[in-house]
Amino acid sequence: MQRLVRFGFNLEQRAGELRENIMDIYHETGTKLKSSILGKESSKKKQEPQKCSWTEDDGIWQSSCGVYFEFNDGGIEQNNFNYCYNCGKKISA
Ligand SMILES: [Zn+2]
Repeated sequence: MQRLVRFGFNLEQRAGELRENIMDIYHETGTKLKSSILGKESSKKKQEPQKCSWTEDDGIWQSSCGVYFEFNDGGIEQNNFNYCYNCGKKISA
């Protein structure tokens, strides 16, 4: 009976150690995940263009943010189109 009690105690101790190991791994993984997610977000922000590029095709302008515009007369400069009406970024042509 005493052996059984001791066996049980050892198991509890082992379980405690394992739990600590798991918590260590959990914290380590969480930190790694957080930094990789944050890293991706900051690099995404850097890559995002600050300007909206407009290209003309047969009198119709297409923006890099995915909208079309047709001027009655002239182009973006003649009509003082400085900023894209869709995304709000400065237009580059
Ligand atoms: Zn735009």
